[in-house]
Amino acid sequence: MVSTVMGTTAPIALSSWPTPLEPAPRLAVGLGLREDDLWIKRDDLTDLGGGNKVRKLEHLIGEAVAAGATVLVTSGGVQSNHARCTAAAAARCGLKATLVLGGTPITGRPGNLALDELLGAELVLARTASGAALDHIVEQVADRLRARGEVPAVLPFGGSSPVGARGYLACAAELREQAPDAAHVVVAVGSGGTMAGLVAGLGPERVVGIDVGAVPDAAERVAALAAALDASPGRVRVHHDRVGAGYGMLTRAAAQAMRMAARTEGLILDPVYTGKALAGLAAAIDEGAVHPGERTVFVHTGGLPGLFGHPFAAELAAAAIGGASEGTPTGK
Ligand SMILES: *Cc1c(COP(=O)(O)O)cnc(C)c1O
Repeated sequence: MVSTVMGTTAPIALSSWPTPLEPAPRLAVGLGLREDDLWIKRDDLTDLGGGNKVRKLEHLIGEAVAAGATVLVTSGGVQSNHARCTAAAAARCGLKATLVLGGTPITGRPGNLALDELLGAELVLARTASGAALDHIVEQVADRLRARGEVPAVLPFGGSSPVGARGYLACAAELREQAPDAAHVVVAVGSGGTMAGLVAGLGPERVVGIDVGAVPDAAERVAALAAALDASPGRVRVHHDRVGAGYGMLTRAAAQAMRMAARTEGLILDPVYTGKALAGLAAAIDEGAVHPGERTVFVHTGGLPGLFGHPFAAELAAAAIGGASEGTPTGK
């Protein structure tokens, strides 16, 4: 593996920057803020199917290419946005991709899986594996690729290493220009690299992370990654009370937040990350941790393909059909 010395390899551009920062006045009022308090950082509007993994991959793939890699290997759940972005980035860069996916794939829930196939990635299904067991299978897969004469670059789970997290230093720099007076920057926390880069670039006081339950030690990971970026993170603000029954399990509050964002702004969130993150912002406002009159940025980290790989999509379609009226033929 390549060492993670900071700043030694140049990132590879995979999208157009900066992403827009857009006002969300009706959503702000719906949440109990003032009209001009709430702004959305549109990191869902990146290339490769969209989402926060693109910024991390610019750095991770920069390093992989410098090391002569021919194939990118990474891991995630069956609906991993990171795995899908890795497959897309590999195609963009003329590399191959092998994705090691834990969990049970279901053909009736296509989402990111459909895109993985479309993008030509090789899939390894590690149905029951997670954590260290998944990492072990990744190492076996990398060995097999080496035996075939490939040069694999193993990218970390969720793209969250110090190198990957550097991508969010760039987002922090954009936000310093776009919203210098932001009091709160709210973001979903999975493997932690996204929040870590924001903390390193904006300071720990302004960044509010909403844990979605992807790892057992989210706050510790954020602090460790921010420290590896040369920041002294101090106390990171991570809220752990929006996870509900577990990673990927929809909560009532997240479903409500998704409906509110969609119906007030046409802003589409996902059930696994951004829906829970907005539910976390709603709770922070209710609890008085975020006040009307304070400029608040919600980082939209993407995840739309995952909606179509989640049972909530079928539930929404059933509700649409159930609530529809029959069109009356207008005659000949
Ligand atoms: C991966 C992901 C996150 C979490 O980012 P981390 O850097 O892993 O904490 C948030 N939102 C979406 C849509 C993601 O795919």
